[in-house]
Amino acid sequence: MSGTLAPTTSGGQRTREDNLAMVLGLLADSARPLSRAELAGALGVTRATASSLVESLESGGLVEETGRSPSGARGRPGRGLRLPSTGPAGLGLEVGVDYLAAAVTDLAGHVRHRTIHPAEQRGRPVEAVLEDLAQLARRALSEVLAQGVEPVRAIVAVPGLVTPQGRVVVAPNLGWRDVDLRVLLRARPVLSELDPECDNEANLSALAELEAGTSGRTFLHLSGEIGVGAGIVLDGAVLRGERGWAGEIGHAPVVPSGTPCRCGSRGCLEQVAGQEALLEAAGLPAAVATALSGQPTAQQLVAAARAGDPALLAGLDRAADALTVALTGALNLLDIRTVVLGGLLRDLAPWVADRLEEHLARSTVSGAIDPPQVRAAARGADAAVIGAAGLAVQRVRARPARYLSPVA
Ligand SMILES: [Zn+2]
Repeated sequence: MSGTLAPTTSGGQRTREDNLAMVLGLLADSARPLSRAELAGALGVTRATASSLVESLESGGLVEETGRSPSGARGRPGRGLRLPSTGPAGLGLEVGVDYLAAAVTDLAGHVRHRTIHPAEQRGRPVEAVLEDLAQLARRALSEVLAQGVEPVRAIVAVPGLVTPQGRVVVAPNLGWRDVDLRVLLRARPVLSELDPECDNEANLSALAELEAGTSGRTFLHLSGEIGVGAGIVLDGAVLRGERGWAGEIGHAPVVPSGTPCRCGSRGCLEQVAGQEALLEAAGLPAAVATALSGQPTAQQLVAAARAGDPALLAGLDRAADALTVALTGALNLLDIRTVVLGGLLRDLAPWVADRLEEHLARSTVSGAIDPPQVRAAARGADAAVIGAAGLAVQRVRARPARYLSPVA
């Protein structure tokens, strides 16, 4: 599910590191410990080679013995091997529009730390945002280090267009334009040691949904926050597009000649289905709502919806209708039948999903035969940062050599 098999070299010969990565991938994908003999069989190598690979990984703390034979293994009893809950791990960080977040996932895939720090980030100098983010990272590291978990890679989630080199071309809701984020992160103590990479938050949220395994391997995951982003997963892989910018559904024009959007266009989806539009519908301007109660925004909106606030319910109907317009084109184009509501939209799914599903059954070309399914995401507001930590772990598993002790 989450394992990453390493690519082979151009000649088809696998390197030793490819084999190490494959061992880690097999263990990650297996629901039970595996024996050296099973690993040798799956890799197509001798038992001696498999034992040598395992020895290297054990020395670096990337594999551990369970102390008992793996169930179902045949022949001579061998000790079971699994990924450890200590040692090298992944750090996820997120710059949200109105929060910062950090998470740590260990090599075995367990979430070991999670913090969401609500705070407005719009219009702040990038360096000030990164200083606060680094502070969250330091706190996360000191907490997990005490448990023997040591993050060695970091992925930073951002609500904007990110190049594969980690440059944020534009993040309209943060007010960022042309920020060389990876370079800035690599210049910071602590973070520089974690070889930080950057990715779009909607893609990372979709990865978290894929890892959760509850929505299958092909779906469109919507992250509803202040902006609305889509992560498109086709047959287990995130569709990134030619420049890595796919999924900007929040700027699908759903209201012709609607109000101007921060992206420069008008009548975009997020102006109807984004957090601020919904707060406004409920008569809860964002700043006032936060100052008055200190409650997370999602809880306020859910409370208002539960109380039957007619203005908010009308706003949620408008959001479902706008989502129908934006999603119909995407589902027809990509042949996707599962829509996953994430972020704020996950919390509001009880008031949005049925209407959206009914409308999509009528509006999509295949709707009468095999109607789209709309479901709530496995994870809520923390999906992107958990997805980021999970991707950092995948990076460790895919290229493990540098985390191993130099053994002869
Ligand atoms: Zn827009």
